[in-house]
Amino acid sequence: MTLSGKTAIITGSNSGIGLGIAREMAKAGANVVLNSFTDRDEDHALAAEIATEFGVQAKYVAADMSKAEDCRRLISDAGACDILINNAGIQHVAAIEDFPTEKWDAIIAINMSSAFHTTAAAITGMRENGWGRIINIASAHGLRASPFKSAYVTAKHGVVGMTKVVALETAKEPITANAICPGYVLTPLVEAQIPATAKEYGISEDEAIEKVILAKQPSKEFVTVEQLAGIVTFLCSDAAAQITGTTIAADGGWTAQ
Ligand code: NAD
Repeated sequence: MTLSGKTAIITGSNSGIGLGIAREMAKAGANVVLNSFTDRDEDHALAAEIATEFGVQAKYVAADMSKAEDCRRLISDAGACDILINNAGIQHVAAIEDFPTEKWDAIIAINMSSAFHTTAAAITGMRENGWGRIINIASAHGLRASPFKSAYVTAKHGVVGMTKVVALETAKEPITANAICPGYVLTPLVEAQIPATAKEYGISEDEAIEKVILAKQPSKEFVTVEQLAGIVTFLCSDAAAQITGTTIAADGGWTAQ
């Protein structure tokens, strides 16, 4: 499949899943727009590396996905948006009574509201071009809950709900909106949760991986960034044109339980 001539914007793509998806989109021929809030030399260098490696246009746009105006500016600064991948996300683990209000607000803004703002800003252009793909990186936590993750579970369930609404609003057009719901992927986001989880449960970090983090993932294997990038590519293909408003779980059987 070629995505040549299409532009893919991937929020939160200087690391982890987002970067893997950006590389896969570029490999399929799409021009890519990388994003994070950091605006470091190495962020711009990542875009230059992708452009050279895959022979596509690639640029980095700094925008803070916790801010509505930045989310909308990302879409306008990108110049085009055929494929929108809402991926930026953060995590914080704490019992609800101890959950800091600023962490709640940040998770709701970055993990959920950003997808509203970017989608709202991108959809008119997709309609004008007569083609669009909106892919929200939700989580198994968009379908199931775990203790100590009130903000994250709330945000991811919200993203799954919004995905369905966007799919219905675009159903008669060649635009689809879907959510991918990964189980655990070993990225910096999960690596950071290991000590926090160990602390919450009062156990060692090895026990936290085996008994808590992968406890719900029957495969007992982490999902890989490459597997998720492959699902994104599939959702961009003609074969997926009638797949809209749904979730694709890539979770080693977690949500089968
Ligand atoms: P990561 O920490 O490696 O990447 C997160 C990305 O979001 C980074 O590029 C970071 O710069 C960006 N980001 C954070 N705050 C931002 C902000 N304010 N503005 C712009 N960008 C911001 O984590 P990851 O594991 O690759 O997570 C990516 C997405 O996948 C998240 O939405 C996460 O919830 C979801 N997810 C991850 C897992 C997992 O196990 N790793 C599982 C399910 C879902």
